[in-house]
Amino acid sequence: MRRIRRTEAICLRSRDHRESSKLLTFFALDEGRLTGIAKGARRPRSKFGAALEPFSVSNIIWYWHQERTVYTISDAELVRSFPGLAAEPARFLAAEQVGEFVLRTVHQRDPNPQLYRLMASYLEALDRADAGFEVLVASFLLKAASFLGFRPELRRCLACKRASGPDGPVTFDMEQGGVYCAECREPGAGPAGVRLDPGRLAEVSGLLHTAGSEIDAGSVEPDVLDLVLRYVASHIDPLLLNSFNWRRL
Ligand SMILES: [Zn+2]
Repeated sequence: MRRIRRTEAICLRSRDHRESSKLLTFFALDEGRLTGIAKGARRPRSKFGAALEPFSVSNIIWYWHQERTVYTISDAELVRSFPGLAAEPARFLAAEQVGEFVLRTVHQRDPNPQLYRLMASYLEALDRADAGFEVLVASFLLKAASFLGFRPELRRCLACKRASGPDGPVTFDMEQGGVYCAECREPGAGPAGVRLDPGRLAEVSGLLHTAGSEIDAGSVEPDVLDLVLRYVASHIDPLLLNSFNWRRL
């Protein structure tokens, strides 16, 4: 049994398939990860046009089939593209890192509309940014972690619940997923702890709690991405992250 469907989706990956087709992986708004073949998509003047380029947002028409995991894509209509991404290698690499993360954490028939909208908004922010691409990736990862079930608690101490920040350094416990004030834990004494002074804590917290379009990425040290990657790696299968190409931007 097969049924025709239409869904908005972000193209994550495009590979050549046979002589003239493409094998595509999408992040679909109401499906999660979606893999399909677009026949003839590499022919000149193909009807698909730019709708199947990486990071394009398109309405795709596809045939759902109960027993298949790779579907036929029959048509695609471009909703929006991000031309700035391909114009600058560092910007494109940042978008690829966002795409790789989504590719490895989103599953088939497992929709995550919040994560979908987050990805679309960060592609837009990257498309417009002139610098600070790593900082935007770090912010995306912190928010994506929240939607995947491991939102870090950065605003108050995990133990005494007092607001953290202005009074002194805190310890960011990667495994516990939050910060401890100086009274509840001697800085550096606990396992898996990273000391953050008030300025650094405010930066990291800002990346989690500020809209992507409003982040002043140039004002944050790019090495914040390393800290966020350590956090993500302690909550996601590290093997999954090992396969990332986390080159410096
Ligand atoms: Zn405390």
